[in-house]
Amino acid sequence: MADDVGSARRINARNVTVRDTGGDRGRGIFASRDFLPGEVVMVGLLDRLEKARTAHSIQMDWNVHALFEEPAIFVNHSCDPNLAIVPNRFRAYDFISVQEISPGVELTWDYATSEFECIGVPVCLCAAANCRQAAGGFSTLPPDHPLLLAGFYAPYLKRNSG
Ligand SMILES: [Zn+2]
Repeated sequence: MADDVGSARRINARNVTVRDTGGDRGRGIFASRDFLPGEVVMVGLLDRLEKARTAHSIQMDWNVHALFEEPAIFVNHSCDPNLAIVPNRFRAYDFISVQEISPGVELTWDYATSEFECIGVPVCLCAAANCRQAAGGFSTLPPDHPLLLAGFYAPYLKRNSG
């Protein structure tokens, strides 16, 4: 498992770069190479669990909120993301490309696919044509949203709360 973590970190270091977005969104994650749809762009690794939701936590279960290691903790939200989340063996999420991605492009995922409620993005700055403006949580996604139809959302959201 320790070796697994080491190779996951090497994959992340090879695939992505952390830098300032040059805007209001602080740091972001950028592709370091080309990706085809369906590739693991980043392997999420748990840093620690949090007692409650924070602006940077990622929801793993109804009452489980985690902080991921860098670089995943710096991935920004978009209402039109190029990444989707899939549970991985580290009890975190992998970030999978859902479209072709060129080097230098900012990587994003839709926080509403992991967060039942979303406090990280009070006013959405993603600038996507289909931006939902105030980024709410999972319940604000329409049932025919492509990421939901594709199953790219947190497994706990597929079960009833409690
Ligand atoms: Zn948006």
